[in-house]
Amino acid sequence: MGMTLGERWAEGAELDTPVQYLKGIGPKRAELLAKVGVETIGQLLFFVPRRYLDRSQMMAIRDLRPGDEATVLGRVVTAGARRLKSYKQVVSAMVRDESGMIEALWFNRPDLAERFHANQEILLSGQVTRYRGMQFVNPMFELADDEAEFSFANTIIPVYPLTEGLSMWTIRRAVATAMEKCLATVPESLTPGIIEHYQFPGIRDALQAIHFPKDIESALRARERLIYDELFYFQLLLALRHREYVSSRKGTNLAETGTLTGPFMEKLHFKLTKAQVRVLDEIRQDMASERCMNRLLQGDVGSGKTVVALYAMLVACENSAQAAMMAPTEILAEQHYQGWHERLAAIGVKTAILTGSTKAAERREILAGLESGEVRMVFGTHALIEEGVTFHRLGLVVVDEQHRFGVRQRAALLNKGVNPDFLVMTATPIPRTLAMTLYGDLDASVLDEKPPGRRPVVTKLMSGLERDSVYLATAKHLDAGEQAFVVCPLIEESEKLDLASAVKTYEQTKAALPKHRVGLVHGRMKSDERNELMEKFRKKELDLLVATSVIEVGVDVPDATVMVIEHPERFGLAQLHQLRGRIGRGSRQSFCILLAPRAALGDALERLEFFVSTNDGFELAEKDMELRGAGELLGTRQHGLPDLRIAELGRDRKILRQARKDAFRLVALDPELKQPQNVCIRRTLLTRYEGRSELLRVG
Ligand code: ADP
Ligand code: MG
Repeated sequence: MGMTLGERWAEGAELDTPVQYLKGIGPKRAELLAKVGVETIGQLLFFVPRRYLDRSQMMAIRDLRPGDEATVLGRVVTAGARRLKSYKQVVSAMVRDESGMIEALWFNRPDLAERFHANQEILLSGQVTRYRGMQFVNPMFELADDEAEFSFANTIIPVYPLTEGLSMWTIRRAVATAMEKCLATVPESLTPGIIEHYQFPGIRDALQAIHFPKDIESALRARERLIYDELFYFQLLLALRHREYVSSRKGTNLAETGTLTGPFMEKLHFKLTKAQVRVLDEIRQDMASERCMNRLLQGDVGSGKTVVALYAMLVACENSAQAAMMAPTEILAEQHYQGWHERLAAIGVKTAILTGSTKAAERREILAGLESGEVRMVFGTHALIEEGVTFHRLGLVVVDEQHRFGVRQRAALLNKGVNPDFLVMTATPIPRTLAMTLYGDLDASVLDEKPPGRRPVVTKLMSGLERDSVYLATAKHLDAGEQAFVVCPLIEESEKLDLASAVKTYEQTKAALPKHRVGLVHGRMKSDERNELMEKFRKKELDLLVATSVIEVGVDVPDATVMVIEHPERFGLAQLHQLRGRIGRGSRQSFCILLAPRAALGDALERLEFFVSTNDGFELAEKDMELRGAGELLGTRQHGLPDLRIAELGRDRKILRQARKDAFRLVALDPELKQPQNVCIRRTLLTRYEGRSELLRVG
C-alpha cells in the first residue's frame, strides 16, 4: 500500500520535508513561514532568532519598582485605545499575574488598538515607571496565541523575526517539534579541525543552543558558529569557482609582442599613471600565462580604466586573437568607440561597434568581419551576446561597469570564445567586505591614483533660495567655454511626473540662461534621440545639459565643470558619486552644487554632508554600507550567489575574513574535497546547493 507523500513525511520526517507536515503547522501557517524564508524542516532548524529575552530577569508584578528593567508574564485583563487630553493617542492594556496588576501603555501606535484581547497571555519587557500606579511605557511585548502554553522551561527566550499573523509561540512550538523529529539527523558540516580550532560547538549542540539556550553565552557562541558556517560555505563556493577558472579552464597564452602596443603608446597623448602601469603589469602576466585571466579592475570614476583595457585588447590582437568590450549603455559603447577607433585604425587595427541600433546591413557586415577575423576589436552593448554573433578567435573579453550586468550575461559573452581572458571593470567602489564576497572569485587590481592635474571637485550644499546665484555662477563658467549638467532625479513611480519635473527644470534653466544653448535628455527618450543629444553635448554644440540620472555612468566630457543636482536627497551615495564623476575630468576646477533646503532634508542630511566632505569613492562606499546595511548593497542573486540568511557582512566582517582564509586554504590543499576529513564538507556542499548547478561545479 502506498502512502501519500504527506504521510510518508510525517512518518519519518527528513530535513527536506515541507514544514506543513509538522504537527501544528498546516498549509496556512506554512505559507506564513515561507514568507520568512522557511519552507522545509531543515530551514526551520536553521531559522535563527534575532535576539533573546532573558526570563531569569522575569519578575512578579508585585515586586516591580520604578526604574527596574523587567520582564513579566501575565494575562490581558482589559485593553483599548483612548485619547489623552493632550490629543495624543494611547493604547493601554491592563495585565495581571498571580501577584498583581500593571498597566502597559503604547503611545502613537494606533496599529496596536486591535491587537490585545482579554485573557491573552502576554510577555512584557521594559522599564517600570510610576504614574498613579506601576506602568510600562512602550514596552516590548510578545503575545501568545490562543492555544499557547508557556511550557518552555528555559530562562532565555528566543525572539524570531516575525511576520504578520505568525506568533513567536507558533514558531517556538514548530521548532521544538522539528528538533524532536530531526535534530539527530542533522549532519555535521564543519571538519573536526575547524571545530577544534575555533572551539565551536558541534552542529546539533549549536542548534539546540540557538533555539533553547541554557544561557545567553551559549546562544551567542552557537550563533557565531552558524555565521561562520554560512560564510565558510559561501567562500568555499567562491574558492571553487576561482580554482576552476585558473586550473580546469586552460587559457591561451597571449604574450605581449609590442607590435601594436608599441605604436599605440608612442601615439598616446598622455603618460600612464603609476597605478595604470602597475595594473597593466598584473594584466599582462595573467594574459601571458597558461591560465585564464579572471580579473576585476576597480578604479574610481575618471581613474583611466579605458586605456588600460584597450592596451590589454591590443595584446590580444597582437596574438591574432580578437577582443570585445561590452558596456551597459549605447552611450558608453559609442563613447569608447568614438574616442579610440581612429587612433586604433592608425596602427592598423580594424574596429567596429555593435549595438541595438546598428542598422541591419551594417550589422551583417560587422558580423561577417567578426567571423572572418578581419574586425579585430569590437565595442558594444548586450547586442554582442546575441545569437548570430560569432568570433573567429575571441581572446579577451572586457566588461565595463560590471555591476550593470548579471552573471548570465557575462557568461554568454565568455562563451563566444574558447576560454578567453576576462577583465571586469567597475567604477563603483565597494567596501572590502563586499568585494571579498561579490567578487571573491576574481583576482583584483585597483587603480588608486587619478591622472595628474585633476583637481578634486568642490561640492556644496545650497538652499533653493540661492538658485539665482547658482545660475549666475554657472553662466560665468559657460561663458568661459566650459559646460554644465543640471541633474533631476528619476521618479520611478511615475513616468509622467518624471518627465514633468525634467521638463520643468529644463524650462526654468533655459529661462535663466537665455544666451546659452540648453538641451534635455531623459529616460523616456528613444535611445537614438538621446545619443544624438549626448553627442551634441560632447561636440560642444550644447553648453548645458538638463538630464535625469541617465547620464550616471561613464560619460566623458572633459570640459564639463559644473553640475547642479536637484533633489539630491533622492539619490543614494553611490549614485551621487557616479554623477559627480561626470565632472572634474579635465584640469579645470569643477563644482558640484546640491540644491536643496537644508530643513527639508531630514535623514538625508547626514548622507549629503558626508558626500560634501569627501571625493573618495571608497570612503563613500563604506559610509553607504554603514547607512544602508550590506544586505541592500549585496545583490547576491544577480551575482549568482546564495543569499546570506544569518550572517551580516557589516557586523560579521571578522568572521568573514577567517572563513574566507579557511575556505581558500582548504581548496588549495584538497581541491576535490576528497580527503577523509573533508568528506563532511563535500557532502554538505552537495546537499545544501543541490539543484543549483550554476553554483557548484565540483567533481
Ligand atoms: P574611467 O576610469 O572612469 O572609465 P576613463 O578611462 O574614461 O575613466 O578616463 C577618464 C579620462 O582620463 C579620459 O579622458 C582619458 O583619456 C583620460 N586619461 C586616462 N589616463 C590618463 C593619464 N594617464 N593621463 C591623463 N589623462 C588620462
Ligand atoms: Mg569608464
